[in-house]
Amino acid sequence: MAENCSHDCSSCGEDCPSREGASLKKQPHAMSDIKRVIAVVSGKGGVGKSMTCALLAAASQAKGNVTAVMDADITGPSIPKMFGVHDRARGDEFGIYPCVSKEGVQMMSMNLLLEKEDDPVVWRGALISGTVLQFWTDVIWQGVDYMFVDMPPGTGDVPLTLFQSIPLDGIIVVTTPQDLVGMIVSKAINMAQMMNVPILGIVENMSYLTCPDCGRKISVFGESVVDSIALEHNIPAVAKVPIDRELTLAADAGKIEDVKNNYLSDFFDKVVAELKDKPLAAGNGAKSAKN
Ligand code: ADP
Repeated sequence: MAENCSHDCSSCGEDCPSREGASLKKQPHAMSDIKRVIAVVSGKGGVGKSMTCALLAAASQAKGNVTAVMDADITGPSIPKMFGVHDRARGDEFGIYPCVSKEGVQMMSMNLLLEKEDDPVVWRGALISGTVLQFWTDVIWQGVDYMFVDMPPGTGDVPLTLFQSIPLDGIIVVTTPQDLVGMIVSKAINMAQMMNVPILGIVENMSYLTCPDCGRKISVFGESVVDSIALEHNIPAVAKVPIDRELTLAADAGKIEDVKNNYLSDFFDKVVAELKDKPLAAGNGAKSAKN
C-alpha cells in the first residue's frame, strides 16, 4: 500500500502500486456526454440478447430519453440491421460519430465500419476488446441519457475486459427458460457480482408462446423459473418475453422501433426506478439528465 493512500485512484499516478479495480476504467471521449450505461449480457449466444438490447433502446427512446446502443458483440453484430441502419460511420479530426436510427437512437457497431456489412470479423480476443473499447473512448456520444451495451455472449476474455474497462451502472441478464435451470446463467450472474456491477434485471426470452387459436400460453422450453432465480439473487426487475413472430419480422426488416407491443416497456421503467438516486458510474452525466 502506498503511503498516504486515499483510495481515490483518480488522483494518483498510473504506476501507483495501490491502484484498485476502478483504475482500469477508461474515460469516454472528452466530447462525449453519457449518463447511464447498462450492459445487456447472456451466458451464451442465440438467446435473444441483441433483441432485448434493441427493445430496451426502442422503449427508452420512445419514452423521450436520448438513447444509444454500443454493439460490443463484434463477431455477431446485429443491432444496426434491427434498426434499419446501413450507413457507414463518419469521422473527423475530433473522433468518430455514431449513426442514428429513424427514431434517433445513436449507435456504433463493427457493421458500421466494415467495407461490406456482411464481411466476417475473424479476429482474436485482444483485437476485439481493443476495438470495442474504442467505441467507448473514440466515439462522440451526444447527450445520452441511457446507453445500452450489447455485450459478447459468455464469460470469456472479451466480456471480462469490457466489464473491467467501461464504467457500468448495471447489467441486464438475458436467458431462456432452458438455460435458467443450468449453470450458464449463474456464471453470468457470478461474473457481474465479482465485478461489483449491480444486476438490475433479468429477461426470460422465448418464455412462452401464445396459441393463436385459443390464447393459451404454451411453455415451449419448459416452465418458467425466472421469478425464483430473481428472488434467489435479489434481482429487482423481471420480464418474460414470448416467442413472437412480429419481433422476428420487425428485426429482420430493420423496423424494431415500430413493434406495436414492446414487451420491455414496463421492464425499462422498473430499471429506471432502480437506478434513480444512484450515483452515475461513468461520472459524465448527460446535460439532458432526467434523473
Ligand atoms: P443473441 O443476441 O442472444 O445471439 P438474437 O437477439 O440475435 O440473439 O436473437 C436470435 C434470433 O432469434 C434472431 O433472429 C431474433 O430475431 C430471434 N428472436 C429473439 N427473440 C425472439 C422472440 N422473443 N420472438 C421471436 N424471435 C426472437
